Amino acid sequence: MESDYFRKKKRVVVKIGSSSLNHEATGNLNFGKLEKLVRELCDIRNQGIDVCLVSSGAIAVGRKAIGLTEPPEGISTKQACASVGQARLMMTYQKMFSEYHQTAGQVLMTKGTMLNNVSRKNAQNTFEELFHLGVIPIVNENDTVSTYEMQFGDNDTLSAIVASLIGADLLILLSDIDGLFTDDPHKNPEAELVKVVDELDGDVLAMAKSSTGSDVGTGGMETKITAAKIATLSGADMIIANGADVGILHRIFEGNFVGTLFKEHWNEDFYIADFIEKSIN
Ligand code: GLU
Repeated sequence: MESDYFRKKKRVVVKIGSSSLNHEATGNLNFGKLEKLVRELCDIRNQGIDVCLVSSGAIAVGRKAIGLTEPPEGISTKQACASVGQARLMMTYQKMFSEYHQTAGQVLMTKGTMLNNVSRKNAQNTFEELFHLGVIPIVNENDTVSTYEMQFGDNDTLSAIVASLIGADLLILLSDIDGLFTDDPHKNPEAELVKVVDELDGDVLAMAKSSTGSDVGTGGMETKITAAKIATLSGADMIIANGADVGILHRIFEGNFVGTLFKEHWNEDFYIADFIEKSIN
């Protein structure tokens, strides 16, 4: 693969999870990391590539702001936390993006947004207009109105759905693991990182099953494989890389990174709303 393969991409979705945004010991926001993430994204934008960020953290940030000592359990407590946290998260992002002369916008979605033809089209139009205006959309699940029936449930899947909706040609999942391994690397020292996945066949699904549990976020390896299916069938390459150092983003665009690349397999019969209806939850 040529070293400028990723630099030729036109539109990229980057997903970061709550565990990558917070200090492990305290659960408070890691501003240093957030600032670096924002700088990396602005630099991708400055290369003429459309950038969209899917960021979790609403519930975790809200919980801290409210002062709950335990993670919220009930749905309405989670929704209340998300209400406070999403606003605080966006305030932080908008401030940081503006320091690099970029404007960020907020897009909150539920499964209903994708299943209803009018809302899906409206969301798509909004994204297109945001890109046209040079704005970086920051997406999350609309946690304050989502309950079980309406939830995507995890942001790995959400980010792939967004990639499909906006016709992105690259999706990057920043995880707390280097990528897909042949077996669980925490249990099997011989487990090897899979660098490229050409086909999502039975072997890959079996590897994903044995790797599950090695990722502490909402989405384990299986949700990442669902994301890979959605992204690759929609015509986007997908990368799983370790977000411990978000500098991995520029290394990806330099073509020199550690991670797993799932190659795109555009399929004209793949219809995202049908897939969500049949396969999500
Ligand atoms: N939407 C949730 C939040 O922002 C997180 C979902 C996830 O981590 O996948 O708190």
